[in-house]
Amino acid sequence: MPQGLLVVISGPSGCGKGTVCGLLRQRHPEVVYSISATTRRPRPGEQEGVNYFFLTREEFQEQVTAGGFLEWAQVYGNLYGTPRAWVEQKLAAGHDVLLEIDTQGALQVKASYPAGILIFLSPPDLAELKRRINQRGTESPEEKEQRLQSARQEMAQIRNYDFLVVNDKVEKAVQKIEAILLAERCRVSRFDEQELKLIWGDKA
Ligand code: 5GP
Repeated sequence: MPQGLLVVISGPSGCGKGTVCGLLRQRHPEVVYSISATTRRPRPGEQEGVNYFFLTREEFQEQVTAGGFLEWAQVYGNLYGTPRAWVEQKLAAGHDVLLEIDTQGALQVKASYPAGILIFLSPPDLAELKRRINQRGTESPEEKEQRLQSARQEMAQIRNYDFLVVNDKVEKAVQKIEAILLAERCRVSRFDEQELKLIWGDKA
């Protein structure tokens, strides 16, 4: 069974990641989404095991020590990590797995899993990013300023990514990601000998 694709989508707060990934999710039920663990407190409406696994710092650290995370990072003062076993199981079973994580985590994934595909989702420009961050009602002015600062740092990481998708229109951004996934599934290096034999017989 060939491995599924490991797809990482990052982008600064306010780039529209939630909306774009939400639409991708609707259209591609075959792609599975990793649920991260975090020490952040749940926002209103967020559910345990649906949005995140909410852990204490101690519980999180235990997982780090046990090697339970494929990657982990501190973002806006809270810890976030991707459960390793779940992701590895899904990939081994041939599922494409999508991680919605920050740039620090994305680089760790690429280091330990070079076949991973890193997609950077960018807002059309800084003014739009500021507008979107300010529009969100869930953060304090300090948190908003922190998110803007982090956005600048995250944007500086673009060159470490495989693909850049500018999110000026959600529909177009989703189409671009669909095109990336389609092309990656056709990459010759993704086919194993057995599959090539099935297509070409002994001539492969
Ligand atoms: P939020 O607290 O707004 O849900 O997420 C804050 C940031 O943490 C976002 O940039 C999100 O992509 C990132 N994030 C969420 N889960 C993970 C994770 O498992 N690992 C890493 N490195 N970042 C994550």
